[in-house]
Amino acid sequence: MSQPMGFYTDTSVCIGCKACQVACHQWNDLEAELAEQPAADGSNPGATRALTGMSYDNTGSLSAVNWRHVRFIEKSELNGQASYEPTDASRDNLQWLMMSDVCKHCVNAPCLDVCPTGAIMRTEFDSVYIQQQVCNGCRDCMAACPFGVIHMSGSENEGKGTAKKCTLCYDRMQHGLTPACAQACPTASIQFGPIEELRQRADARVKQLHDQGLTQARLYGADEQILGGLNAFYLLMDEPEVYSLPSNPKLPSRTVLPSSLWSIGSALAMAVIGLVSFRKRRMDRFAEERREEVR
Ligand code: SF4
Ligand code: SF4
Repeated sequence: MSQPMGFYTDTSVCIGCKACQVACHQWNDLEAELAEQPAADGSNPGATRALTGMSYDNTGSLSAVNWRHVRFIEKSELNGQASYEPTDASRDNLQWLMMSDVCKHCVNAPCLDVCPTGAIMRTEFDSVYIQQQVCNGCRDCMAACPFGVIHMSGSENEGKGTAKKCTLCYDRMQHGLTPACAQACPTASIQFGPIEELRQRADARVKQLHDQGLTQARLYGADEQILGGLNAFYLLMDEPEVYSLPSNPKLPSRTVLPSSLWSIGSALAMAVIGLVSFRKRRMDRFAEERREEVR
């Protein structure tokens, strides 16, 4: 195996230009997300989607055709407290937190763990790749991913489609090329390279920001704490939840024991309720029979 490769995304220098989104669409030949598809005979050009009304974010989320998504978080002050409410007119000190979201190519990838057909594989670069021709459209990976990365599209598998997400530009990497999104990023917010080297760069950047007084700068997914490490890790300027990233995502197997105990407890409670009501019905019938005899 080659050394693990991936992304270090420094959100402190993201300018929200969406060049990464465009480059990803272009390289991977991803369709535009339309409200209405064009007619095959050209009689109707289709319709573009309505604006989301959420700052400059008109993509909304990752999807089957948006393998990158630039989040715009409007942070301001309201009565001296941090506020993330974009519609409040009385806010002060407005600033944008921008972040280009993507598949995290987790070291312990829940999607890969649950895939029943082996369609999701780990490549020689330690990235996570979905083999389209092996996917049976079961959606287990969608449920397992704690970041909401995977979506289904296409007409395969009796209309269920197949699972889609970022490939880390596996086709480009196999030819020694940088992934299209990182190549297009004009500020080096998305940096691509060997993970060890990226971690050193990220540590140095956090120190630089802290020295400048920006002590809120922190890394997310750069060490093994989150799913064994994320091969697409981040430098954030606020809490992970502000960027819709879970602080402590779990592997599905870690939730099996608590949910099993909960199911066993529920089943026992139902059995006790059933027994009590059965016994009450019998007692009522017995009392009724006794009354009949006395009459
Ligand atoms: S972020 Fe989600 S889709 Fe990507 S490797 Fe991790 S679990 Fe799989
Ligand atoms: S690595 Fe390639 S497939 Fe993944 S987001 Fe970037 S351009 Fe898209």
